[in-house]
Amino acid sequence: MNESTIGLVTPTSELARAFKLESGVDVNLCFQCNKCTAGCPTSYAMDYTPAQLIHAVRLGLDDLILHSKTMWMCAACETCTTRCPQDVDIAKVMDAAKIIARRRGIQPPVPGVASFYRSGLTTIRLFGRMYEVGMMMMLKMLTRDFFKDMGLGMKMMRKGKLKMLPSLSLGRTIATWRLFSRVKKKEKRVTR
Ligand code: SF4
Ligand code: SF4
Repeated sequence: MNESTIGLVTPTSELARAFKLESGVDVNLCFQCNKCTAGCPTSYAMDYTPAQLIHAVRLGLDDLILHSKTMWMCAACETCTTRCPQDVDIAKVMDAAKIIARRRGIQPPVPGVASFYRSGLTTIRLFGRMYEVGMMMMLKMLTRDFFKDMGLGMKMMRKGKLKMLPSLSLGRTIATWRLFSRVKKKEKRVTR
Protein backbone atom coordinates (compact mmCIF):
# COMPACT_ATOMS: atom_id res chain seq x y z
CA MET A 1 0.00 0.00 0.00
CA ASN A 2 1.61 3.30 -1.03
CA GLU A 3 1.37 6.55 0.89
CA SER A 4 -1.43 8.06 -1.20
CA THR A 5 -3.56 4.93 -0.70
CA ILE A 6 -2.99 5.16 3.02
CA GLY A 7 -4.11 8.79 2.76
CA LEU A 8 -7.39 7.66 1.18
CA VAL A 9 -8.31 5.20 3.91
CA THR A 10 -7.13 7.30 6.87
CA PRO A 11 -9.58 9.99 7.97
CA THR A 12 -7.83 13.17 9.09
CA SER A 13 -10.68 15.19 10.56
CA GLU A 14 -10.17 18.69 11.97
CA LEU A 15 -10.87 17.21 15.35
CA ALA A 16 -8.27 14.46 14.93
CA ARG A 17 -5.75 17.20 14.10
CA ALA A 18 -6.82 19.22 17.18
CA PHE A 19 -6.32 16.13 19.33
CA LYS A 20 -2.91 15.48 17.76
CA LEU A 21 -1.90 19.06 18.55
CA GLU A 22 -3.16 18.90 22.12
CA SER A 23 -2.01 15.41 23.08
CA GLY A 24 0.58 14.42 20.48
CA VAL A 25 -1.48 11.25 19.88
CA ASP A 26 -2.29 10.02 16.38
CA VAL A 27 -5.73 8.43 16.74
CA ASN A 28 -5.54 7.21 13.14
CA LEU A 29 -3.31 4.37 14.33
CA CYS A 30 -6.33 2.75 16.03
CA PHE A 31 -7.64 -0.39 14.32
CA GLN A 32 -10.62 -0.87 16.68
CA CYS A 33 -9.50 -4.02 18.46
CA ASN A 34 -11.36 -2.88 21.61
CA LYS A 35 -8.62 -3.96 24.02
CA CYS A 36 -8.74 -0.50 25.62
CA THR A 37 -12.45 -0.83 26.35
CA ALA A 38 -12.13 -4.38 27.67
CA GLY A 39 -9.64 -3.25 30.33
CA CYS A 40 -11.26 0.05 31.30
CA PRO A 41 -12.55 -0.03 34.91
CA THR A 42 -15.02 2.83 34.39
CA SER A 43 -16.38 2.06 30.90
CA TYR A 44 -19.66 0.88 32.50
CA ALA A 45 -20.34 4.51 33.51
CA MET A 46 -19.40 6.05 30.15
CA ASP A 47 -21.87 6.85 27.38
CA TYR A 48 -19.29 5.89 24.72
CA THR A 49 -16.53 3.37 25.32
CA PRO A 50 -12.88 4.44 24.94
CA ALA A 51 -12.66 2.66 21.53
CA GLN A 52 -15.86 4.38 20.38
CA LEU A 53 -14.53 7.74 21.47
CA ILE A 54 -11.30 7.23 19.53
CA HIS A 55 -13.32 6.26 16.46
CA ALA A 56 -15.54 9.32 16.86
CA VAL A 57 -12.42 11.54 16.94
CA ARG A 58 -11.28 9.99 13.65
CA LEU A 59 -14.70 10.69 12.13
CA GLY A 60 -14.69 14.28 13.41
CA LEU A 61 -17.88 13.92 15.48
CA ASP A 62 -17.23 17.04 17.59
CA ASP A 63 -20.63 17.32 19.27
CA LEU A 64 -20.83 13.67 20.24
CA ILE A 65 -17.36 13.69 21.81
CA LEU A 66 -17.24 17.07 23.46
CA HIS A 67 -20.67 16.69 25.12
CA SER A 68 -20.10 13.10 26.18
CA LYS A 69 -19.59 11.87 29.73
CA THR A 70 -16.81 9.49 28.68
CA MET A 71 -13.74 11.63 29.32
CA TRP A 72 -15.19 12.95 32.59
CA MET A 73 -15.67 9.39 33.88
CA CYS A 74 -12.10 8.44 32.95
CA ALA A 75 -10.04 7.69 36.07
CA ALA A 76 -6.72 8.28 34.27
CA CYS A 77 -5.53 4.80 35.30
CA GLU A 78 -3.80 4.33 31.89
CA THR A 79 -4.83 0.67 31.59
CA CYS A 80 -6.10 1.40 28.07
CA THR A 81 -2.83 3.04 27.06
CA THR A 82 -0.84 0.09 28.39
CA ARG A 83 -3.02 -2.45 26.58
CA CYS A 84 -3.18 -0.75 23.19
CA PRO A 85 -1.25 -2.78 20.60
CA GLN A 86 -0.94 0.36 18.44
CA ASP A 87 0.55 2.53 21.21
CA VAL A 88 -2.37 4.95 21.06
CA ASP A 89 -2.20 6.91 24.34
CA ILE A 90 -5.95 6.84 25.02
CA ALA A 91 -5.57 8.36 28.50
CA LYS A 92 -3.95 11.42 26.90
CA VAL A 93 -6.79 11.63 24.39
CA MET A 94 -9.25 11.67 27.32
CA ASP A 95 -7.35 14.60 28.85
CA ALA A 96 -7.27 16.39 25.50
CA ALA A 97 -11.04 15.89 25.12
CA LYS A 98 -11.63 17.63 28.47
CA ILE A 99 -9.27 20.48 27.58
CA ILE A 100 -10.79 21.04 24.12
CA ALA A 101 -14.36 20.88 25.53
CA ARG A 102 -13.58 23.47 28.23
CA ARG A 103 -11.76 25.69 25.73
CA ARG A 104 -14.89 25.70 23.57
CA GLY A 105 -16.96 26.70 26.60
CA ILE A 106 -18.84 23.38 26.86
CA GLN A 107 -20.14 22.69 30.36
CA PRO A 108 -19.08 19.24 31.67
CA PRO A 109 -22.02 16.80 31.72
CA VAL A 110 -20.66 15.44 35.03
CA PRO A 111 -20.11 18.71 36.95
CA GLY A 112 -18.94 16.95 40.14
CA VAL A 113 -15.85 15.63 38.36
CA ALA A 114 -14.91 19.06 37.00
CA SER A 115 -15.39 20.55 40.48
CA PHE A 116 -13.18 17.83 41.93
CA TYR A 117 -10.37 18.72 39.48
CA ARG A 118 -10.80 22.40 40.20
CA SER A 119 -10.65 21.91 43.98
CA GLY A 120 -7.60 19.65 43.79
CA LEU A 121 -5.70 21.98 41.46
CA THR A 122 -6.52 25.04 43.58
CA THR A 123 -4.97 23.50 46.70
CA ILE A 124 -1.93 22.37 44.72
CA ARG A 125 -1.51 25.88 43.30
CA LEU A 126 -1.78 27.44 46.78
CA PHE A 127 0.31 25.00 48.81
CA GLY A 128 2.51 23.26 46.27
CA ARG A 129 0.92 19.91 47.09
CA MET A 130 -2.48 18.36 47.70
CA TYR A 131 -4.25 19.58 50.86
CA GLU A 132 -7.07 17.09 51.19
CA VAL A 133 -9.20 18.85 53.84
CA GLY A 134 -9.04 22.16 51.91
CA MET A 135 -9.89 20.34 48.72
CA MET A 136 -12.89 18.63 50.33
CA MET A 137 -14.16 21.94 51.74
CA MET A 138 -13.90 23.64 48.35
CA LEU A 139 -15.56 20.68 46.65
CA LYS A 140 -18.47 20.83 49.10
CA MET A 141 -18.90 24.57 48.40
CA LEU A 142 -18.84 24.03 44.63
CA THR A 143 -21.20 21.05 44.57
CA ARG A 144 -23.38 22.24 47.50
CA ASP A 145 -23.44 18.62 48.61
CA PHE A 146 -22.39 19.25 52.20
CA PHE A 147 -23.05 15.92 53.90
CA LYS A 148 -22.02 13.30 51.35
CA ASP A 149 -19.14 11.11 52.63
CA MET A 150 -19.04 13.11 55.89
CA GLY A 151 -18.87 9.91 57.97
CA LEU A 152 -15.99 8.57 55.90
CA GLY A 153 -14.10 11.88 56.24
CA MET A 154 -14.47 11.86 60.04
CA LYS A 155 -13.29 8.25 60.17
CA MET A 156 -10.19 9.10 58.11
CA MET A 157 -9.46 12.06 60.36
CA ARG A 158 -9.72 9.94 63.50
CA LYS A 159 -7.23 7.48 61.98
CA GLY A 160 -4.84 10.33 61.14
CA LYS A 161 -5.22 9.88 57.36
CA LEU A 162 -6.27 13.52 56.90
CA LYS A 163 -4.37 16.49 58.31
CA MET A 164 -6.41 19.50 59.46
CA LEU A 165 -3.71 22.00 58.44
CA PRO A 166 -1.81 22.14 55.14
CA SER A 167 1.92 21.49 54.98
CA LEU A 168 3.54 24.84 54.18
CA SER A 169 6.74 25.50 52.25
CA LEU A 170 7.41 28.80 50.51
CA GLY A 171 10.00 27.27 48.16
CA ARG A 172 7.61 24.53 47.08
CA THR A 173 4.76 27.00 46.56
CA ILE A 174 6.94 29.30 44.42
CA ALA A 175 8.16 26.35 42.34
CA THR A 176 4.53 25.29 41.79
CA TRP A 177 3.45 28.81 40.78
CA ARG A 178 6.28 28.86 38.23
CA LEU A 179 5.13 25.50 36.91
CA PHE A 180 1.52 26.72 36.55
CA SER A 181 2.69 29.89 34.84
CA ARG A 182 4.83 27.89 32.34
CA VAL A 183 1.79 25.71 31.53
CA LYS A 184 -0.41 28.82 31.05
CA LYS A 185 2.12 30.32 28.62
CA LYS A 186 2.33 27.03 26.72
CA GLU A 187 -1.47 26.85 26.54
CA LYS A 188 -1.62 30.38 25.12
CA ARG A 189 0.90 29.40 22.43
CA VAL A 190 -1.15 26.32 21.49
CA THR A 191 -4.47 28.18 21.31
CA ARG A 192 -3.12 31.18 19.34
S1 SF4 B 1 -6.66 -0.70 22.09
FE1 SF4 B 1 -5.76 0.81 20.69
S2 SF4 B 1 -6.06 -0.04 18.65
FE2 SF4 B 1 -7.42 -1.16 20.04
S3 SF4 B 1 -9.38 -0.04 19.92
FE3 SF4 B 1 -8.26 0.81 21.64
S4 SF4 B 1 -7.14 2.57 20.77
FE4 SF4 B 1 -7.80 1.29 19.07
S1 SF4 C 1 -7.31 5.80 31.55
FE1 SF4 C 1 -9.51 6.22 31.52
S2 SF4 C 1 -10.24 5.35 29.60
FE2 SF4 C 1 -8.25 4.44 30.01
S3 SF4 C 1 -8.68 2.53 31.11
FE3 SF4 C 1 -8.32 4.10 32.66
S4 SF4 C 1 -10.35 4.92 33.14
FE4 SF4 C 1 -10.54 3.80 31.18
